[in-house]
Amino acid sequence: MKICKTYEIEGIVQGVGFRPFVFMLAKKYLLNGFVYNRSVGVYAEVEGEEELISKFEFELQNHPPVLAHIDKITQKTVPLQNFTDFKILKSKASFSKNTPISPDISLCPDCLREMRDKNNRRFGYVLINCTNCGPRYSIIKTVPYDRINTSMSVFEMCEECRAEYNDPSNRRYHAQPISCPKCGPKITFTDIRGGFKTDTEPLEKLAKAIKSGKITALKGLGGFHIICDASNESTVKLLREKKRRPAKPFAILMASLEMAKEYCDITECEQEALLSREKPIVLVKKRNALNDIIAPHTDRLGIFLPYTGLLVGICELVGRPLIATSANISGEPIITTAKEIENKLGGIVDAYVDFDREIINFCDDSVVQFAGKNSIFLRLSRGYAPKSFKTSYECKEKILALGAHQKSTIAVFNDTNITISPYIGDLESIKSIEMFERTIDTFRRFYDFNPSLLVCDKHPHYASVMWAKRQNMPIIEVQHHYAHILSIMFEHDIKDEVLGISWDGTGFGDDKTIWGGEFFLCDLKHYKRVYSFKPFKLLGGDGSIKNIDRIAFSILYPAKDNAVAAAFLDNFSKEQKYLLEQSYKKDINALLCSSVGRLFDAAAAIILKQKSVTYDGESGLYLEALYDKSVQDRYAVVIDKNGMVEYIHWFLGMLEDEPKVAASKFINTLAALTVHIAKKQRKKVVLGGGVFQNRTLVEKIAELLEKEHIEFFLAKSISPNDSSIALGQITYALNNL
Ligand SMILES: [Zn+2]
Ligand SMILES: [Zn+2]
Repeated sequence: MKICKTYEIEGIVQGVGFRPFVFMLAKKYLLNGFVYNRSVGVYAEVEGEEELISKFEFELQNHPPVLAHIDKITQKTVPLQNFTDFKILKSKASFSKNTPISPDISLCPDCLREMRDKNNRRFGYVLINCTNCGPRYSIIKTVPYDRINTSMSVFEMCEECRAEYNDPSNRRYHAQPISCPKCGPKITFTDIRGGFKTDTEPLEKLAKAIKSGKITALKGLGGFHIICDASNESTVKLLREKKRRPAKPFAILMASLEMAKEYCDITECEQEALLSREKPIVLVKKRNALNDIIAPHTDRLGIFLPYTGLLVGICELVGRPLIATSANISGEPIITTAKEIENKLGGIVDAYVDFDREIINFCDDSVVQFAGKNSIFLRLSRGYAPKSFKTSYECKEKILALGAHQKSTIAVFNDTNITISPYIGDLESIKSIEMFERTIDTFRRFYDFNPSLLVCDKHPHYASVMWAKRQNMPIIEVQHHYAHILSIMFEHDIKDEVLGISWDGTGFGDDKTIWGGEFFLCDLKHYKRVYSFKPFKLLGGDGSIKNIDRIAFSILYPAKDNAVAAAFLDNFSKEQKYLLEQSYKKDINALLCSSVGRLFDAAAAIILKQKSVTYDGESGLYLEALYDKSVQDRYAVVIDKNGMVEYIHWFLGMLEDEPKVAASKFINTLAALTVHIAKKQRKKVVLGGGVFQNRTLVEKIAELLEKEHIEFFLAKSISPNDSSIALGQITYALNNL
């Protein structure tokens, strides 16, 4: 019997070859009708034999194109329309723009094959892409996702490309960034020092510069990379000096998995992530670190595989591991134009390769590591973000959440979707704040979105909070550490009361002190701080957190009568000691603080005799490198009658223990503490906040909680750090309106 059905398909279904997929399916099952893109997804009407329609439906649901992600299919049987063929119709824009935007996707195997095929017309064409790969988010100005709305609109397709674009059986059918050497963007090489620019053999020239020890830049999907030879120690040293980046590890671009395995030990999970379509930077165990200055004092190395034709090309030409780090000024967003490379990094970069396809939306590389099988995202960006969640919340408000201050992201709620932006950066420079505002504008445009409600942090000095307050709109403020827990409750769809363990660097507490070592009993509406770390004085205030020896001073000062503590305090110069003492005794510039992130700093100051840190998470990385699994010992877990965790005795112990033993005992103690409190509460445990980026700590906690059969939840597809605060803020708003 003949029937007719309509399908409304929602999710990531645009720009991923969905319409040709429906077209080919309809042809396969001899069905007539039509399909088109509309602003809420894809719409199709299909008519034919009932039995064939059900086969069509099965494939539609179960074998969509690789990049598609179906959230929802609404279907209806309607009267017969007597269609005579199957057509792909023009996009229709309707009122609500709500189609998730696809992130940028790494070069697919088919395109790589064509790029290497001498007989293919795209042989050697490094900007090659298709329906399954290439730029998306980074080139889109607005929706619907059609070429006219992207930065490819200025390139007129040649006849051959147009024929492919219009042929539903071609794998580039409606691939919006389609191009070829004839009609696509032009690649150029610029020698800044020599003062010339050329479009002949640009990559070959860049490779030559890299091999001769030059520092170069290369345009990618969402921004430029700084690239140089990782095996050339003096070049790496020079890069560190010029970039004023003394210690923060550099990511290494490996030409292949085989090359990566020459230098690193790679687990199965890590290998899977390296080879995945998203191609993030993966932190792995280094075996032969090329040279020590790439990632000093840590046993991990961030590596990734080439994910664009350009990166494949440069890897093949140079044939060595390359440093490939985001081109930016420290803390600022990634640079997207050649002009900025010249203006801001002209003193660092000798030469660069550019092409004239504009980057509309910047997007940094994503970074992930694994604690056993648990993924820990350190940065959720290219390949993953914008990240959309279909929710069951029905809410008329259009909500904009402004996130935190460091590792800024924003999130929006529109209709039933929550979308998180790619990583923006730390909102500490004018440029970062500008990019923060630009991201808000981009999201407004993408989703035709005019917020009716803002959600922000409680910290009065966060740039995101100050921005929110300038808008003269209804605002909800959410406590920072509670938002950490909420983001993970949202991710795992947890609705009942949990023990939320929220440990991070710093965040504004309800009592106006700095929190960061909190134990909450909380659900989606309320939280109660049941335990916390006993606050210590952060001498010099928030601004002094780089000087980690001062944190150790402040923690040990109350034990100054202890001989070991006194010896440590005597390491400070007379003058310094006097100033710190005054600050401590008179509470001058001495904020109270319960942050576990800062305890890691103090531990690093004591164990490694280190005075300062230069990047976020540095102390944790160093302590992890010292961690010794054979040390089972720990310091005592002591909680006072007010629910405050005591720890001075840990630090006194660290002064006497060997570095390896001290670092291991410190991490073991933190893990034992979580289990101690989890056993008392007997609730699901949710662990959130930047401290849970620490792989070793997470592994140890997981091991202990599993032993006790206590159910626990970690951030899985989002990051535990401040970049997920925006998601937690939206979760709060949706549950408390
Ligand atoms: Zn492709
Ligand atoms: Zn062409």
